[in-house]
Amino acid sequence: MIVILLGPPGAGKGTQAAAIVKSLKIPHVSTGDIFRANLEYETALGLEAKKYMDQGQLVPDDLVVRLVADRLSKPDAEAGALLDGFPRTIVQAQALSDILAAKGKKVDRCLLLEVPDQDLIARLSGRRLCRSCGQGYHIISSPPKREMICDKCGGEVYQRDDDQAETIKSRLAVYHEKTQPLVHWYQSRGLLKVINGQNDPQTVQSEIAQALGL
Ligand code: ADP
Ligand code: ADP
Ligand code: ZN
Repeated sequence: MIVILLGPPGAGKGTQAAAIVKSLKIPHVSTGDIFRANLEYETALGLEAKKYMDQGQLVPDDLVVRLVADRLSKPDAEAGALLDGFPRTIVQAQALSDILAAKGKKVDRCLLLEVPDQDLIARLSGRRLCRSCGQGYHIISSPPKREMICDKCGGEVYQRDDDQAETIKSRLAVYHEKTQPLVHWYQSRGLLKVINGQNDPQTVQSEIAQALGL
């Protein structure tokens, strides 16, 4: 099953992904996580992506599409994948459809997590992440028990460079300009399911499970 998690930065895609992949037994493919892992190891891909990420801009389509095509050709993606943060432009959506068609597959569902901009700003500016296991936190609504230490693995909890006020503003503008058109794209293909992302994480999770027939 190929499921897309669509939504603005901070909508809760990463937070919801864990439960979805557990139920569907498919890998979590987050392009943002892949770029950050590459940056950690200072690969050429990571250093190239950083130029755009730091500005709150999108990494060029051809680079992202090659990365996802490669990831979807791995054996664990035979059963499908949960795509988080991809596609983000119409060009990427078209490329995804071509990549899948070549494998006799297609997008099965696109879940849109809707959250208004003012909530997103509060979520993103308080977001923290574990450097080792990727677990997400929020300094106010879900802080780690010990300051800056991950509850799950003891790893270091940090703030992303792009979760700063100025960069957040550009990322939201980029979302509205380049990514929001995908809502209509998937809606017109009968694949879109809108989820109210403003609810608490547990409620959002139940709504997603229902939308996926789980
Ligand atoms: P995304 O992957 O869509 O960018 P995240 O899952 O990283 O978003 O969530 C962004 C921030 O908002 C994190 O700090 C997270 O703890 C918090 N968050 C996630 N879901 C909710 C929710 N339903 N209500 C309130 N805060 C949330
Ligand atoms: P968030 O959900 O908080 O916006 P992500 O972790 O998905 O963040 O993405 C972080 C950054 O990585 C984006 O701002 C962008 O620069 C880059 N990126 C991730 N996915 C894509 C994509 N599909 N196309 C272009 N750039 C991407
Ligand atoms: Zn951790």
